[in-house]
Amino acid sequence: MKTILSIFMILCLMTPALAGAAVNGQATVVASFYPIYLFAENLLKGTENVRLLSMTAPTTGCLHDYQLLASDMRVLAEADVFCVNGAGMETFLDSLTEQFPSLPVIEGASGIEMIYDPDLNEYNAHVWLDARNAIRMVQNLSEGLCAVLPGQAERIRANELEYTAMLTGLDAEIKSGLEGIARRDIVTFHEAFPYFARAYGLHIVAVMAAEPDDALSPQMLSDIINKVSAAGNPPLFTEPQYSSAAARVIAAETGAMVYELDPIVTGDGALTAYEDAMRTNLRVLREALRQ
Ligand SMILES: [Zn+2]
Repeated sequence: MKTILSIFMILCLMTPALAGAAVNGQATVVASFYPIYLFAENLLKGTENVRLLSMTAPTTGCLHDYQLLASDMRVLAEADVFCVNGAGMETFLDSLTEQFPSLPVIEGASGIEMIYDPDLNEYNAHVWLDARNAIRMVQNLSEGLCAVLPGQAERIRANELEYTAMLTGLDAEIKSGLEGIARRDIVTFHEAFPYFARAYGLHIVAVMAAEPDDALSPQMLSDIINKVSAAGNPPLFTEPQYSSAAARVIAAETGAMVYELDPIVTGDGALTAYEDAMRTNLRVLREALRQ
């Protein structure tokens, strides 16, 4: 027993990430928010003694300016590893690493070519809406999870291959689904779709709110209405997570049609939720842009 204990202690010293897992027999993986939860869920499918928690509720939405709650800290205190989007989505990360210096953090967006947003003076963090980026994120998360959970690495790698193969097919499906569509202009609710637009050849004429909670001033609303009119009234896309009030006003002023695109930041957490939402977005775009 003494020998086992000393080996265990050495292991803990060498790999602090494993301490929690070794103590309670179960490793706890925490995802920062919904899309990261979906990717981690697919990677961890069928693993043993691993539980996956989402730090934020699946109704939270994007983490713009998110402030950590006491309940988040309690979840993170149990974490053996924290999976995040990165790219500036989790603005609380710096303060977090001060409080949990030994908690390994895996950034999904690591190595992805970022889009700079001059209006917000920052890089856009919504990388997951390009399926090629999603592949890179899943690979990054897989690599990090295999390092922290070496006993589950074989299963995680197999899941990675299966899920990225699905994403490769999904990417091709979206590309071919939007091929040959003459109309390419769209107006989105918030700055969630630049990566989608870059990947699939769409042009975002205007956004109705740079950040989801931004209230539109009459001046901003009038600017957007002018942009939409000048572009020939392209379709407006609301998001299921946020109010469609601005879109309705712009539609009433311009005659532009209103549809809905999902930035995939809330949902039921089903294993297929990402590809289901991407396919729904594709269907909606084909309908909205068909003439
Ligand atoms: Zn967002």
